Amino acid sequence: MIDRKYIIANWKMYPITVNEVRDFLSFFTDVKCPQGLDAIICPPFPYLSLFDQSNCFKLGGQNCSDKDKGAFTGEVSAFMLSQLRAQFVLLGHSERRMHYHEANDTIKRKVVLAQSCGLTPVLCVGEPIEVYQEKKSFAYIQQQLSETLSSEIDLTKIIVAYEPIWAIGSGLTPTKEEIKAFAKAFKDEYDLPILYGGSVNAEVASMLAAIENLNGLLIGWASTQPDEFKKIIFNFSGNN
Ligand code: PEP
Repeated sequence: MIDRKYIIANWKMYPITVNEVRDFLSFFTDVKCPQGLDAIICPPFPYLSLFDQSNCFKLGGQNCSDKDKGAFTGEVSAFMLSQLRAQFVLLGHSERRMHYHEANDTIKRKVVLAQSCGLTPVLCVGEPIEVYQEKKSFAYIQQQLSETLSSEIDLTKIIVAYEPIWAIGSGLTPTKEEIKAFAKAFKDEYDLPILYGGSVNAEVASMLAAIENLNGLLIGWASTQPDEFKKIIFNFSGNN
C-alpha cells in the first residue's frame, strides 16, 4: 500500500521572467507542506537554480535526455538535473510525445538513465479523445506501460501520471467516477503510485481528494498561480 501523496507542478514554459519565479517563491516562504505529501515543482531548466531551501518544495525536471553525455546540442542530462537538487523528472509527457515525437522506446531509455542518476521518473501516460470515447482508455494505458516498463526499470522507484490528452489545458476532466474506476483498475494490476493530471484546479483537487487509490496530482497552468496552487495542495491533502 502506497501512502505517500504527490502534488507535482509542471510549469512548462509558462513563467517568462526570473521575477515571476521569485514572487512565487516568496509567496510560499512560510508555508509548510502537509505531512506525508511531497510538493514538487518542475520549472523550466534555467530556473531550477533559483530554488533554495526557503520553502517546502522538492524539485523535478520536465524532461531529460535519453543520452548520458556528449555532443547532443540542446539536451540536458539526468545527471545534470540531479546536480541542481532535482529528485524527480517528468518523462513521456504528451506534449513531448506530440511535438517532439517521443516514442515509448526513447522514453524507456530516459527512465533507465534517470533512475541510474537517482531521480524518480514520473512517467506520463494518457489517451486521445477518440480512445476515451470508445471507452478503451485503460487498454491504451496498459499498452503504453507495457512498451515502457522493461525489466531494467526499478519498479519501486517510479510514479505513473495518468493524463488524458484531451483533458490537458482544456478545462475538461473525466468524471470523478471515471477517475476512481481508472485508479482502481490501475491498482489491481500495478503496485505503483498513480497520479491524475489534466485541468486540475483547487475545486477539482477537493473532488479528487477522496479517491482512495489516487496518490496525487500533476498540475499544469494552475500550478503557476501561487494562491491556487496552495489551495490545491491543502485541498488534496484534506488539510484545508
Ligand atoms: C499537464 O500538462 O501536465 C497538465 C496537467 O496541464 P493542465 O493542468 O494545464 O491541464
